[in-house]
Amino acid sequence: MKAHDGMYLDGDWRPSAGTETIEVVNPADEQVIGVVPAGTPADVDAAVRAARAAFPGWAATPPAERAARLTALRDALAARRDEIADTVTAELGAPLGFSRAVHADLPIAVAGSYAELAASYAFEEKVGNSTVLHEPVGVVGAITPWNYPLHQIVAKVAPALAAGCTVVLKPAEDTPLVAQLFAAAVHEAGLPAGVFNLVTGVGPVAGQALAAHEDVDLVSFTGSTAVGRRIGAAAGGAVKRVALELGGKSANVILPGADLTRAVKVGVANVFANSGQTCSAWTRILVDADRYDEAVELAAAAAAKYVPGDPRDETSRLGPVVNARQRDRVRGYIERGVAEGARLVAGGPGAPEGRETGYYVRPTVFADVTPEMTIAQEEIFGPVVAILKYRDEEDALRIANGTVYGLAGAVWSDDEEEAVAFARRLDTGQVDINGGRFNPLAPFGGYKQSGVGRELGVHGLAEYLHTKSLQF
Ligand code: NAD
Repeated sequence: MKAHDGMYLDGDWRPSAGTETIEVVNPADEQVIGVVPAGTPADVDAAVRAARAAFPGWAATPPAERAARLTALRDALAARRDEIADTVTAELGAPLGFSRAVHADLPIAVAGSYAELAASYAFEEKVGNSTVLHEPVGVVGAITPWNYPLHQIVAKVAPALAAGCTVVLKPAEDTPLVAQLFAAAVHEAGLPAGVFNLVTGVGPVAGQALAAHEDVDLVSFTGSTAVGRRIGAAAGGAVKRVALELGGKSANVILPGADLTRAVKVGVANVFANSGQTCSAWTRILVDADRYDEAVELAAAAAAKYVPGDPRDETSRLGPVVNARQRDRVRGYIERGVAEGARLVAGGPGAPEGRETGYYVRPTVFADVTPEMTIAQEEIFGPVVAILKYRDEEDALRIANGTVYGLAGAVWSDDEEEAVAFARRLDTGQVDINGGRFNPLAPFGGYKQSGVGRELGVHGLAEYLHTKSLQF
């Protein structure tokens, strides 16, 4: 797609108040593919004012009419499916097949789910002698990252609009083009002017101005724990609602009776998808001592099938990571793993063969990882798997719960009840049992430092509502 040189504010594309711009780079070949405006605090202020002005009208729009606009938004996104996939591949570097099946189809499904929920949700309920009204919170400031760029936009904007809130979105600087596509779809869907506004820009300027704006009622942020912590602290000080979706270091616990081949193969695929840039990725594989060596061999063999390649090539399963900083960060973690004594069984810190141009990382598997190592504790956000050995179930539980994070996880067993009993003891917001399928209606969010609040489905809608009780 061609980049817009404006911001989508109050129902139209308008020039930025400033002159700074952001170059969008294709991580597969390091070429500039577009230029977008770097929004200023004045742009953010104009967007918040537009959202505030549109709020009473949108909040008063009957839910059935809001649902109709969301259906139109879903349809507008669906009509642009190929353009969305091509754009995400160009600015993020995800393989084209993955971009179609996940980066395009998942947000289309989530937009559709909120069209249905807007129509069916009980915005009023009876509690004894009270009528409880579920009212929209107000103006939402949404700040999103680059790793699932359209999904993370839709997972905030669709429930906010379904609830009757109005929105200002500040998308990640690496992936603004798909955010512009989203704004075009909003326009096509006929949402009233000011209900949705887009300010592209850098985090410390436009993001900071949005998070700190006194006329924003709720800040919803997805990204790093470092930034999330600051946004949460500022929101606390201003007594405003905040939702934080942060990092993860999820455990893939393979219990002794499980199908080891399948669990390891699916586990490696789970981490290498999207070049490892998934906050819920199961980056730690936990295996019992008896089958540890076999699991390591299986993981190394699985990793060998992921040859880094051009994401536009339909046969590529592993593209580059998003930018040079991320590549250096991931390679730094691989070096750290080696330095701390973990055993490389696939990959390593250097550039993959023949991939010196582009931000490529070798798909990497570490064995002999111990729980206190940096690569077992910190979110790497690259195609790197750590395999840890446990003594017994209690040890596995202690290791699985032994990080500051708690976003996702997996448990494998030949006895589903045993797997569920283990999952109940995990301090984490989601657990997939024996490779369970992703459910776009299930609440998604973190325990511990993985975040505050939930996205998706009815729980995600409730985040954008507050209650008023009328007593009779
Ligand atoms: P980041 O937290 O810096 O960026 C996320 C979003 O926040 C972007 O839109 C950015 O512009 C904005 N932002 C940055 N600084 C801000 C500020 N001071 N105030 C307001 N908004 C601000 O994340 P990143 O630098 O893109 O990635 C760094 C690391 O974060 C990754 O390596 C990964 O570990 C983690 N991460 C996690 C997720 C997730 O889904 N949980 C997503 C992306 C990155």
